[in-house]
Amino acid sequence: MERTFAMIKPDGVRRGLTAEILARIQRKGYRVVGLKQMVIPRETAEAHYGEHKERPFFGELVDFITGGPVVAIALEGENAIAGWRAMMGATNPANAAPGSIRADYATTVGENVTHGSDSPESAERELGLFFKPEELL
Ligand code: ATP
Ligand code: MG
Repeated sequence: MERTFAMIKPDGVRRGLTAEILARIQRKGYRVVGLKQMVIPRETAEAHYGEHKERPFFGELVDFITGGPVVAIALEGENAIAGWRAMMGATNPANAAPGSIRADYATTVGENVTHGSDSPESAERELGLFFKPEELL
């Protein structure tokens, strides 16, 4: 069984989309093995998005992701990494497939409601950033 790190970003939490997004995850059949609402410490956000630190939007991205509570989620299921990315849709909601979360709930690339790890290496790294081993049940 594969595990991945998913997140409802501050825009999604602020807009009251937590229950809808968790319902989609559970209807799909992924198991929620870790779940917490939290404000991400700045250092954790910078580490989480470390691959983007040279990009012009990095500062804005870190400000945004630390700017309110998020819901951190550890998911388990067959092909969960790619499957959750497919459920989210493309990074830019304008390009996201109809019926995907970003197509259904977002309009801008900067506030696109959810996050999902993009590879097994990212999933392991991000799960380790957000969860202690004993928090994954
Ligand atoms: P995430 O990592 O948040 O799941 P992603 O893997 O689809 O999204 P990345 O390329 O990792 O996309 O970009 C991380 C985040 O940075 C995006 O979700 C988006 O909010 C923001 N971002 C990416 N490209 C841009 C851009 N050109 N302008 C502004 N923000 C951007
Ligand atoms: Mg990414």
